[in-house]
Amino acid sequence: MTTPRKVHIKSYGCQMNVYDAQRMVDTLAPEGFVETNEVDGADLVILNTCHIREKASEKVYSELGRLREAKEAAALSGRSLTVAVAGCVAQAEGDEIIRRAPVVDVVVGPQSYHHLPQLLSRARLQGRALDTEFPPDDKFDALPAPAPAAIRARGVSAFVTVQEGCDKFCTFCVVPYTRGTEVSRPVARILDEVTRLADNGVREVTLIGQNVNAYHGDGPDGRAWPFGALLERVAAVPGIARIRYSTSHPRDVDDSLIAAHRDLPALMPFVHLPVQSGSDRVLAAMNRRHTVDDYRRVIDRFRSVRESIAFSSDFIVGFPGETEEDFAATLALVGEIGYVAAYSFKYSPRPGTPAADLPEMVATTVMDERLARLQEVIDSQQSAFNRATVGQTVDVLFERAARKPGQIVGRTAFLQPAHVMAPPDIIGQVLPVTMDALERYSLLGTVSQPLSHPSAARRAAATPALGA
Ligand code: SF4
Repeated sequence: MTTPRKVHIKSYGCQMNVYDAQRMVDTLAPEGFVETNEVDGADLVILNTCHIREKASEKVYSELGRLREAKEAAALSGRSLTVAVAGCVAQAEGDEIIRRAPVVDVVVGPQSYHHLPQLLSRARLQGRALDTEFPPDDKFDALPAPAPAAIRARGVSAFVTVQEGCDKFCTFCVVPYTRGTEVSRPVARILDEVTRLADNGVREVTLIGQNVNAYHGDGPDGRAWPFGALLERVAAVPGIARIRYSTSHPRDVDDSLIAAHRDLPALMPFVHLPVQSGSDRVLAAMNRRHTVDDYRRVIDRFRSVRESIAFSSDFIVGFPGETEEDFAATLALVGEIGYVAAYSFKYSPRPGTPAADLPEMVATTVMDERLARLQEVIDSQQSAFNRATVGQTVDVLFERAARKPGQIVGRTAFLQPAHVMAPPDIIGQVLPVTMDALERYSLLGTVSQPLSHPSAARRAAATPALGA
């Protein structure tokens, strides 16, 4: 029997990179690779990069510097280490990486990683290999199904990519250039994947896409199905207790999605709906294609079918030309909507995007100060929301053993971590938990009524009211 080769994947950025990393492991498994958490001893290291954050490429090059030392150390001990760069930085700057970083053997874009086995062979024969095309073959058709053992090892909650790319062209964003235009997977393929996951212990799926609610994949009837219709079918897969989705665009919230929130108890009442700014002037400069009032109306539509629904969002602070008045409008919107979580960042220009050429850059000190104010408001809303959960009984999906012996950790409908003392066989179950206390961001509770049937999870979750 041949010794398995080891692959270590370091993933940065979004949920889709986490999913892609798992699928890379699935692609390499038939080639005799097993995953390792360590660079030491790995035969192949893949940096699965993200281009969204500031100084993304600089971070990749400094990581590559460390890998050059690891490669030299491996060579001294008679082993060979292959280095690959994948993800959005690979897509955007593949040729530059090949030119600047001799340590790199393979560069592969997010639409081509199903070609990894061939690229590794080509690198072995020719020294280097690069594939950043948008290939005509569908990578999802080519990717091998994950092995049951791999699914079980990944836990009870899984990501499933249903859509890739974006046609919105927000002026600050690289996604339309790195991931291409909006493409949706067919309904049947997604259902096959979800069924396989559920058959192997997955209880919660998060359907992901750069603009997930722009989903328009082919349905079994040959027509393009809206996202809400896909959600309905996913909710009907036996064993699936919870469904989430991310990331959605306010403009693509349609009747089918609102109906899904009305009709599907398995669809969690917690929606991530980026707004980026509370100022119409800034939204227009960002090319978000909606106003603040449009956004408010979308929120109202969700609330009209599920009063208890909670929202999180994304914010960019200090977009070029943002005035104190614009920023005050953002703070006002945060308070008005009552977000219970948010990702907030200082604006930083992405090369090649229209906003990178805008004048009126906001001073760093001003951005720092605004970001701190915004995060303080969001933190206080989140804390109030968490405090309001104490004393309530809410459903928790148990995910894994916690660090403290005897403790199991799970998540509420609103992704709040919840810890209970319980036997490990509750992992994978959705059980009602009475929350006794809040410790920093984590709830401590007691399982109040063991439920053994998956249908138990379909009860609507009790929703804590946001505190003052
Ligand atoms: S909608 Fe989202 S992914 Fe698409 S361009 Fe705008 S920020 Fe980027």
